[in-house]
Amino acid sequence: MRRKLVAGNWKMHGSHPANAERLAGVVASRPFGCDVAVLVPFPYLAETAMTLASTEVRWGAQDCSAHEQGAFTGEVSASMLAEFGCRYVIVGHSERRALHAESDQLVADKAKAALARGVTPIVCVGETLAQRDAGEHAAVVKRQLSAVIHTLAHCAGEIVVAYEPVWAIGTGRTASPEQAQEMHAIIRAQLKAATPHADAMRILYGGSVKPDNASTLFAQPDIDGGLIGGAALKAADFVAICRAAG
Ligand code: PEP
Repeated sequence: MRRKLVAGNWKMHGSHPANAERLAGVVASRPFGCDVAVLVPFPYLAETAMTLASTEVRWGAQDCSAHEQGAFTGEVSASMLAEFGCRYVIVGHSERRALHAESDQLVADKAKAALARGVTPIVCVGETLAQRDAGEHAAVVKRQLSAVIHTLAHCAGEIVVAYEPVWAIGTGRTASPEQAQEMHAIIRAQLKAATPHADAMRILYGGSVKPDNASTLFAQPDIDGGLIGGAALKAADFVAICRAAG
């Protein structure tokens, strides 16, 4: 039985007062019947770590460098994230693939760098609307995941995968539970061919998850929680989604 994980991706949102209110709302609503994490902008890691230190709510970041250290201005390494107690880091979010031209191999290298420092990568995969309309969704997602599987080799079982159809992110248009389950089953089959741990691995769904659609999505056999964007910014909504998973 896999324990569900709900992770809130704050993206580039936040301020000291807004963060304090959001985190207080989550802390006050514990305990949850699932694992819960918040993935915050880098400058807020220290305050998030301090606020959540004595709770079971975990925290993490939204990206990391594929490099360990060096002349990479603006980058943040996985070892720095580990120093701030990060449990998770998102790699390969579609916004980074699209806006920062991140390749499948770079995403895989970032996942490897994170694992090497004990930070669990949440590897995002997902197709665009054009790719879905062309019937290429399964092939695109398999290609994205394949780079990670080959790069991580025997460590592939240690990641979390997030299936996030690009057309559902921030659009209010959610994949139907059937569409999401179909893709999660495809991902699990690909993982099964690569690692003996696939049945224990968590595959999250992301894309306009809200309190009113979370339960049906999370009831699907291969959906092990969610990566939540917009709804993670309002504590009450995020908490309601965590409850739907627990
Ligand atoms: C995301 O950015 O990972 C995401 C799923 O966003 P939203 O929930 O807003 O669609």
